[in-house]
Amino acid sequence: MNMLQVIHRKRDGLKHTQEELDFVAQASANEHVPDYQLSSWLMAVRINGMDEQETFWLTEAMAKHGTQLKLSGIRKKRVDKHSTGGVGDGVSLALVPLAACAGVAVPMMSGRGLGHTGGTLDKLESIPNLKVRLTPKKISDQLDSVGAVMFGQGAGLAPADRKLYALRDATATVDSLPLIVSSILSKKAAEDLDALVMDVKSGQGAIFETPAEAEKLARLLIKTAARLKLPTVALITDMQEPLGRAVGNALEIKQAIEVLSGDGPHDYIELLLTLGGWMLTLAKKASNWEDGAEKLERILRSGEGLKKFKLIVAAQGGNARVVDLPEKYLPQSKFSVPFKASQSGFIAHWDARRIGEAARILGAGRLVMEDPIDYSAGIYLKKQKGDEVEKEEVIAWLYSNNLVKMNQEAARLKQAVTIEKRKPKASPLIIKVIR
Ligand code: URA
Repeated sequence: MNMLQVIHRKRDGLKHTQEELDFVAQASANEHVPDYQLSSWLMAVRINGMDEQETFWLTEAMAKHGTQLKLSGIRKKRVDKHSTGGVGDGVSLALVPLAACAGVAVPMMSGRGLGHTGGTLDKLESIPNLKVRLTPKKISDQLDSVGAVMFGQGAGLAPADRKLYALRDATATVDSLPLIVSSILSKKAAEDLDALVMDVKSGQGAIFETPAEAEKLARLLIKTAARLKLPTVALITDMQEPLGRAVGNALEIKQAIEVLSGDGPHDYIELLLTLGGWMLTLAKKASNWEDGAEKLERILRSGEGLKKFKLIVAAQGGNARVVDLPEKYLPQSKFSVPFKASQSGFIAHWDARRIGEAARILGAGRLVMEDPIDYSAGIYLKKQKGDEVEKEEVIAWLYSNNLVKMNQEAARLKQAVTIEKRKPKASPLIIKVIR
């Protein structure tokens, strides 16, 4: 078999065999075939699709060709949460320590920013010295001693996904259901989990804009996870508005510290407690998600979550003083500019995609893979949807080390906000739960 034959078959709309998909996964993991052939195959899949059987075969093969964690020696239930990607979605940063305090072992493998969406690994790396490239032994030891560990794919886990993910970002093949499902679940299958909670985003700031498309993705995730024998619950959640107030790496770390200190945006906290409630339910630490959310709220109020966050940071070599004095120890931008309301009224909408794009241009994300990140860059929304504002009141702050880009984005931000005379109706954050 060779890659040309495999491309031919998908180009002609035929169904792949298990052997063909194993060949693609192995070739991607070992970088045996050139990028142009893998890219061509990705486009053929993006256009002609793959059915449930093919999606499962590809996922299984992508997990198999790489290191697989062996975590069954850990006595607690191992549950992870994964999001399909959004703007300001730094929920994992507070969720991991909280769930660990409630007795769940959380081995969280995260990714970097993709397009206009942020990535947990980039956020974590804004903490001075913190390491996310961990060996399988370190992952297992920290999970045992601290109860939680946050790391990247560097440990050789699902290397085929690393390759294909980067190519997809550069070849307009991100929004393909079988490619998203195999990307996410190959990583989760390599983590040796007991259960998984999926946050499937829907809206302007997400890969899929409508709840119907997000539901199709959620259903394929659930079906593929079932074939992998990985109990999974998927929540479809709203990503029309950025989540919380902070969009940018160090800004989102600071927001997570505030949340764990008992303060924070209502939408962020609602999502945090709901996803966590489901994690506890799947770990059999709560009778249902509401019970789990109540338990987590108590932990949040006790300050235990903040202490656990500090332990995780220290265990991964990071400067734990960040937790006590974020302003002092997190990267700070040289420049900041206020963004003011053009009229009085209520914030009716912040366009999540435009905000994500603006933060990316300010330096919080990458335009090409090699771009360095400006950890201090981003946007802080002082006012969220539904808040009343006066004309000329500061409703957001922009942060960057690049003054030219900052002034340019401050001017463009006008198109990202809608202010109306009447208070907008609140829309539900949790749209649907699929099991
Ligand atoms: N998250 C992933 O890990 N992979 C995708 O393809 C999309 C979101």
